[in-house]
Amino acid sequence: MRTPLVIGNWKMNGTLASAPALASGVRVAAAQFAGVETAVCPPFLHLAAVHAAVADGPVALGVQNICDFAPGAYTGEIAAEMLADFGVRFVLVGHSERRALFGDTDARVLAKCRRAHAAGLTTVLCVGETLSERQEGRTETVIAGQIDALLEASDALSLLENLVIAYEPVWAIGTGETATPEQAQAVHHFIRTRLAGLSPVIANAMRVLYGGSVKPGNAAELFGMPDIDGGLIGGAALKAEDFIAICGAARARLASF
Ligand code: PEP
Repeated sequence: MRTPLVIGNWKMNGTLASAPALASGVRVAAAQFAGVETAVCPPFLHLAAVHAAVADGPVALGVQNICDFAPGAYTGEIAAEMLADFGVRFVLVGHSERRALFGDTDARVLAKCRRAHAAGLTTVLCVGETLSERQEGRTETVIAGQIDALLEASDALSLLENLVIAYEPVWAIGTGETATPEQAQAVHHFIRTRLAGLSPVIANAMRVLYGGSVKPGNAAELFGMPDIDGGLIGGAALKAEDFIAICGAARARLASF
């Protein structure tokens, strides 16, 4: 059984007061979810306050992005090594908002995976198709392309050691529209099969999360699918009680498999 994982992506939200308050709310409840890993990814500005709020507790610290270069003269950027030094465990790489708005090509995504791996961080590699790509029947081709950018790298086997994949259909992110459990399961199974082409052992051990309008009301159904090992949560991660309810659904998964 793969350990379920639920990660909150707070995106560009929160204040000096609300960020640690939200983190504390999650931390207090997370003790109930033994066997489930949880993490929160605040904006960089609030990382220190959230770090203090979750310190020595069950909630891990994550970030939403890293620089694709080693420390040096890169104004405005934050290096993987700095994050590892700070106690960060997870880094989101290739989120669709970064791919669409900030120039994160497959090549840059691969470079970020390498930087994260070298610093000992766990990469959460986000993949997903747009609505038009799904409507054109190209979902598997798009996902295969995004995954293969990593699998075809000469160092793929070592990069996969410390990696989680998040399947996030772009049409479901922040839209309130969720993939059905069957639609999500089909893509998760496709991803696992693709990984098995390189290593059946890694494919079986890899956690593949679903993201895209997960809420307390639909999490249990999604996490009830055999290849959905938890969630990457956006909007619902901004309310402690909703995020906690979703973690509860991941806990229930432990009992069903
Ligand atoms: C996300 O941004 O990773 C995400 C899944 O957002 P939401 O849950 O709001 O769709």
